[in-house]
Amino acid sequence: MGLRIWPLLCGTIRSNKGLVNTLGKDVDKWVDNPSVIWYIEGAKEKILVDTGMADEERANKWHYPGSRRTPDQEPQNALRRIGVRAEDIDIVIYTHLHWDHCHNADKFKNATFMVHRDELSFAIAPIPPYYRSYEALAIGLRPPFLEIPFETITKEKEVAKGVTVFPTPGHSPGHQSVAVETDKGVYVITGDAVFVYENWEGDSERKMRFWPIGRYYDIGKVWESFERIAEIADFILPGHEMKVFEREAYP
Ligand SMILES: [Zn+2]
Repeated sequence: MGLRIWPLLCGTIRSNKGLVNTLGKDVDKWVDNPSVIWYIEGAKEKILVDTGMADEERANKWHYPGSRRTPDQEPQNALRRIGVRAEDIDIVIYTHLHWDHCHNADKFKNATFMVHRDELSFAIAPIPPYYRSYEALAIGLRPPFLEIPFETITKEKEVAKGVTVFPTPGHSPGHQSVAVETDKGVYVITGDAVFVYENWEGDSERKMRFWPIGRYYDIGKVWESFERIAEIADFILPGHEMKVFEREAYP
């Protein structure tokens, strides 16, 4: 059997749609965004993409009030429901190190953790507007990634047979996405390079092939990363899209 991808719900984050998800569109709307981790099944190694958000109290106090996380949404419990033990994960790939993607790493005791080097260096010393995103020491927090013994990546790399990590900066300086070769085509786990399917639909009237995400570090790179993903992907799985749960696994 070929590779399969399981999206797992690890909580929800309440945010303004026009500020975070779709730049300048629906600025009066509030949405509950899923915090998603992705289990890739079928390779020799057991692979996970991202390790999920902070606990509910921390999420509400420091990030987005109205965020939720139940005990069964903790990553190790979400994985157990599909028959995978956290300690059996061999590889964890990080799309980036924002607070909603890299908590809970201590549950994966036997994994190799991979992150882009540009992401790690920025996360360690972010500019002030990103102190909360990375839970910086500068504001008295302890970044969740400090204890992770990372292996750093600097360019496109096949990390397991059929699973390739490639740089997609823009949302954050060292963001990366994951291409998974399945029997039905290439699925790209975009991370926050693409927040929701609406980013991918664009706006033909404005001659925009894509609709930008609302939260970004470099809008030029956001656009180039959209184009790079479009070159590689037959299908995309966006970072904060509730519709990915309409199917249990892909393909
Ligand atoms: Zn995110």
